[in-house]
Parts: sequence; C-alpha cells; structure tokens
Amino acid sequence: MGSGTSHGIPVIGCSCPVCTSPDPKDKRMRASLYIEGDDGERVVIDTGPEFRLQALRAGISSLDAVFLTHAHADHTHGLDDIRSLSYKQEMPVYGNEKTLAEIKERFSYAFQNTQQGGGKPRIRLSPVSGPVQIGGLTLTPVPVKHGILDILGWKITGAVNKNSFAVYLTDTSFIPSPSLALIQSPEFLIVGGLRARPHETHFSFEQALSAGADIHARHVYLTHICHSHSHREITAICQRFQKMRNLRNLGFQNTVMEPGYDQMELVL
Ligand SMILES: [Zn+2]
Ligand SMILES: [Zn+2]
Ligand SMILES: [Zn+2]
Repeated sequence: MGSGTSHGIPVIGCSCPVCTSPDPKDKRMRASLYIEGDDGERVVIDTGPEFRLQALRAGISSLDAVFLTHAHADHTHGLDDIRSLSYKQEMPVYGNEKTLAEIKERFSYAFQNTQQGGGKPRIRLSPVSGPVQIGGLTLTPVPVKHGILDILGWKITGAVNKNSFAVYLTDTSFIPSPSLALIQSPEFLIVGGLRARPHETHFSFEQALSAGADIHARHVYLTHICHSHSHREITAICQRFQKMRNLRNLGFQNTVMEPGYDQMELVL
C-alpha cells in the first residue's frame, strides 16, 4: 500500500527533483502491505500514518488481523484508524513482545477506561511465538535486525501452493542465519532498500538486492525508499546490479529486480 521511507515522499518542505517529480511512482506513502487470501482473508502488515488513506485507496472494507514489523512511528501511528474495522470484534494485532509493549504505551487510551468520548480502536495484542494462521493464510515471523533493534519480517504462504511464498522484510540491516534458512527461494521478496549510500539501520539498494540474490528470490522488489533517487533511476541501478552479477557469474538470470511503488499488485 506504500513504498516510502519514514518521511514519505514528497518530504514536507523539500524541493528536490524526486519530491517535485511528476512521475506517480515517485509519490511514496509510508511502507505497508495488504494481503488478500484465496478465501477472502484480509490482513495488513504495518499501519503507518497514511493507513486510512491507503485503506480507502485499496478499497479495504474489513480486516481479519494486523501484523506489525516494529513500533517505529512510520509503521504504527495509523493504528487508531482500525477503529471502524474493529467495531464488530477486537482486531488481533500480531508482533513481537517489545513491539506490542510499545503499542500499549503509545495507544494507552485504547487499553484504559478513562477516556471520555472520542472513540477508540479495539485492539487484541497477540504476541507471536511461531506461524500465525488466518484462514488459509499462514504468516510466519522472520526475526531480523534493524540496527540494534530486533524486529520481524513476515513470510506469507497461501493455502493452495505451500512451496510458493512471499517474504516482506522492511527496515532490515541484517538477516540472521536461522531466518535465512526460513526464507530460501521465495517467489517474491519485498525488501527495504533505503538509498544508494549505506545506512546504519537499513539495507542500501545494493545490500537489499544482494540479499534477494543470496536467497534465490525469483522477484525482488525494493520498498521503504527515500528521496535520493527517482523510480527511473532506481530501475537503472537494479539493472546495473543484475548485469554485474551476471558478468561475475553470481546472478540468477531469471531473477526480476525492480523498485516497488505504491499500489503495486503481486499475485502469488
Ligand atoms: Zn521504517
Ligand atoms: Zn526531496
Ligand atoms: Zn524502523
């Protein structure tokens, strides 16, 4: 539903060529993913500040669960807007213990009986210790490092073909080996690639693409992108990366590597 870094693009007050670009693919809301299962299961990964706008744009009218990668503002501060989706029943919100503890603190009003009026979301905090089943969909937590933070990526498997799965890893700077073993040969890897230059807590474009090649992903799409390069420029960077790997016989000729964009749709 979104493919931008924490600021979103355009960045407020910025007049750089990317923030003023007329290309719709250079407009990036905060990073998140909406998933529909074969039997109508509906879940989102992360609810950033534009969650309401993204949900309206994607035509979301109900949701079975919310999955969180971590508690940073750009991934969670739209969580209040699940209000209208949690009238009938509490919304299960899955994440690791630390993320959920922070949610309880940031959205304290939702867990207390002290607020007068104003409405609140009905949240059921659900710490994960293994794969989560939502109808025929399975979401398996993939522990990764975001700088010094322990956060979660998610492996997404449908009901029909268990061998074909997608992996969503945003805000990642390191994938530990038990997690690498869990995500070998995905059909889709949607992976945070912040910018060309290295960053302490995020993969660069090249690190993200290398991670995709190393796990033999058939398609690699970058997300959580900042305003340093346009969609067109990142497309060229991806093509150069593949050419280099192929020249050095490291690459997989059949791998697709591209920058993601808002409202991109993938069918698994
Ligand atoms: Zn982020
Ligand atoms: Zn800019
Ligand atoms: Zn983050």
